[in-house]
Amino acid sequence: MDAEIIAVGSELLLGQIANTNAQFLSQELAGLGVNVYYHTVVGDNRERLSDAIAHAQERADLIIFSGGLGPTKDDLTKETIAKSLGRELVYDEKAMEAIEDYFRKTKRVMTENNKKQALVIEGSSVLANDHGMAPGMALEAEGKKYMLFPGPPRELKPMFLNYGTTYLQKGFHTREHIVSRVLRFFGIGESQLETKILDLIDAQTNPTIAPLAGFGEVTLRLTSKSSTSEEAYRLIDSLETTILSRVGDYFYGYGDTTLENEVFKRLLDSGRTIACAESLTGGWFSKTLTDLSGSSGVFNGGIVCYTNEVKENVLKVPDTVLEKDGAVSEACAKALAENVRELLGADIGISFTGVAGPDKSEDKEVGTVYIGIAEDGAPVRVHSLLLAGGRGRIRSQTMKHGFFQLLKAGGR
Ligand code: ATP
Ligand code: MG
Repeated sequence: MDAEIIAVGSELLLGQIANTNAQFLSQELAGLGVNVYYHTVVGDNRERLSDAIAHAQERADLIIFSGGLGPTKDDLTKETIAKSLGRELVYDEKAMEAIEDYFRKTKRVMTENNKKQALVIEGSSVLANDHGMAPGMALEAEGKKYMLFPGPPRELKPMFLNYGTTYLQKGFHTREHIVSRVLRFFGIGESQLETKILDLIDAQTNPTIAPLAGFGEVTLRLTSKSSTSEEAYRLIDSLETTILSRVGDYFYGYGDTTLENEVFKRLLDSGRTIACAESLTGGWFSKTLTDLSGSSGVFNGGIVCYTNEVKENVLKVPDTVLEKDGAVSEACAKALAENVRELLGADIGISFTGVAGPDKSEDKEVGTVYIGIAEDGAPVRVHSLLLAGGRGRIRSQTMKHGFFQLLKAGGR
């Protein structure tokens, strides 16, 4: 099934709001194995909306609309669709009751135009709006499916998840099971990852492979269809094994997980604690870890050692190291990791030092980064990186690399 999403609203075209509804719907549809081939945005204008509908009818089996179901004059989505399909708008009693109920409860007076919200396209299934007044709709006409959702995301999302998906799944071949799995990677660029699995991407049929990149991470969504879910999972397992045999070094988790989440789980499972000394990242690592509830079970504390004085006086980095190698050096990262571990009584010490820019420091290039990891019973490891980007990106990527290296280390 191929889908198109039509978002209706002049605000979108004026750049006043971003089309997050299309993003949400696309993500959900990908999970259901529905191909989304087009996103259209059209203003609150009957003619242009009619044109957009005609276009979509030529290229999609499922057309999903967002916005323009409200009570005001510029809300014209359902009227325009009804006209395109040659159908009437009819009052839906349940929707009418829900609207009257809403006004009674909020002790507000209902204006005449609100009744308009209870009008639905003849022959459609009504999707209840549990967070607002305008109901959604789902219908079929001439072999195509149409779904209409209200614009406010807090109304659209639950409506889609609670009622929309059920409607869609009923339409699929009943014996088809769709299963998907997201693999998360760090430390490898999207194009680099794609190159390594290009033959698999080119040959994909079932399962399909959808790469997605953002925030220095790459994810692959594998989706498989089969007559049984066991078989669908088996297909995914086998593809995953092949993919990980090539790029497994960069893999860190499944689904919605994050690097910090995975580190947190590992530490919790192994009953170990961590402490950090942060120069470059200025507390970002500590903040990220302590965003997770229960982190006190694994995190002893952190020291932001921004100046050389603090590195020397609090963290006992030998002055010879600071003078000879500098604060941005392997030797300094090593001393910081070892000493913070000792000082804060943790099993693992991690340190971050580097040049965030915009200017060079100690004659070292912007983006030069050292991450030290000291663990009980193992020699201190120092990872050196040369990161690209502005100050913000260098600092956030450093923090993420720290978590990633902990995973690689803790895996043993
Ligand atoms: P209402 O009953 O609130 O008028 P509606 O179904 O008529 O809802 P619109 O009037 O088009 O929807 O949009 C209402 C609000 O929903 C917008 O002001 C905006 O905040 C949000 N919204 C609309 N479309 C989108 C979209 N594509 N992505 C994100 N938010 C949107
Ligand atoms: Mg509106």
